[in-house]
Amino acid sequence: MAAAFPSACGKTNLAMLSPALPGWRVHCVGDDIAWMKFDDEGRLRAINPECGFFGVAPGTSAKTNPNAMAAVSRNTIFTNVGHTSDGGVYWEGLDQAPPPGVTLTSWLGKPWSPGDPEPCAHPNSRFCAPARQCPIMDPAWEDPRGVPIDAIIFGGRRPRGVPLVFEAFSWRHGVFVGSAMRSEATAAAEHKGGRILHDPFAMRPFFGYNAGQYLAHWLAMGERGGGARLPRFFHVNWFLRDPARPQKFLWPGFGHNARVLAWIFGRLEGEDNAQATPIGWVPREGALDLRGLPGVAHRDLFEVGKEFWEKEARELRAYYEENFGEDLPREVMAELEALEGRLKKM
Ligand code: GDP
Ligand code: MN
Repeated sequence: MAAAFPSACGKTNLAMLSPALPGWRVHCVGDDIAWMKFDDEGRLRAINPECGFFGVAPGTSAKTNPNAMAAVSRNTIFTNVGHTSDGGVYWEGLDQAPPPGVTLTSWLGKPWSPGDPEPCAHPNSRFCAPARQCPIMDPAWEDPRGVPIDAIIFGGRRPRGVPLVFEAFSWRHGVFVGSAMRSEATAAAEHKGGRILHDPFAMRPFFGYNAGQYLAHWLAMGERGGGARLPRFFHVNWFLRDPARPQKFLWPGFGHNARVLAWIFGRLEGEDNAQATPIGWVPREGALDLRGLPGVAHRDLFEVGKEFWEKEARELRAYYEENFGEDLPREVMAELEALEGRLKKM
């Protein structure tokens, strides 16, 4: 599968995931950029044009991303992280207290100790490491033919309203879901303060041409004849917050995201594991494996609220008008209208 998330929304962690579900293994091809084209058999294939990883340091630990920790153990450049007096690096969420007697210096070059009000590492501090140092690189990660792609997963940081995972109803609806992507601003974006920003296909900072034509290109790919085997579109949100305790995430994330991938692969294999909602297919109660996750309730992860989504649709319409105008493909507008219609009937 390939995923498109805005900056600092979990691409690197997803690419290097250590599954918390027994029986699954993840192979990594790349963590950031996929160049994709259809092969002679009509299969979409992806290559990774990069040879390294450029990941967000804070939050990276042996627990959250052991493969990244192995990858950055040598030959790595760190930017804007904290330093230890014995020549090491430090950041928030590293989960390793420095050895006794070792002191810390913040990314600003000032003495720093745990509990200081300012972070030790800049929230967008990063590591830059050779991909071949990641223990789970796929044997074909440098194969110029690329690897087959069966699912394209969109996602972002949405503290409320957007379920943990849903599948688009069709290719055209999937292109609409990609165009409608939004995410809470992070340290990697230019805006601050929990604002929810539009970021179609996670491409907002990278569009090299008219974004309406970009959507039209995706729509046209869905019209390929000749036995093309099209991937299916999904949307994930690892970042739902507990309304009662907004500093807490509802979903444990990281290795547990394998549970969501398992549901997605179940869909691709034709399992009858979903129920329709106005926004797409969500796991049927019991179909997403929540075993061993006390306090995580299906209901909290998959609520699709009429009011929330009506507001979302209104804001999307205004965004389209302001940013795409007459260049918005009419198929995408038709999908917005179809969503509005389904919400009305809720
Ligand atoms: P990228 O810029 O899209 O590659 O994002 P990263 O994978 O580097 O992650 C950005 C930040 O989000 C880091 O601080 C991660 O620890 C955090 N993160 C990634 N995946 C998850 C997840 O599943 N749950 C939570 N709560 N945080 C995550
Ligand atoms: Mn990354």
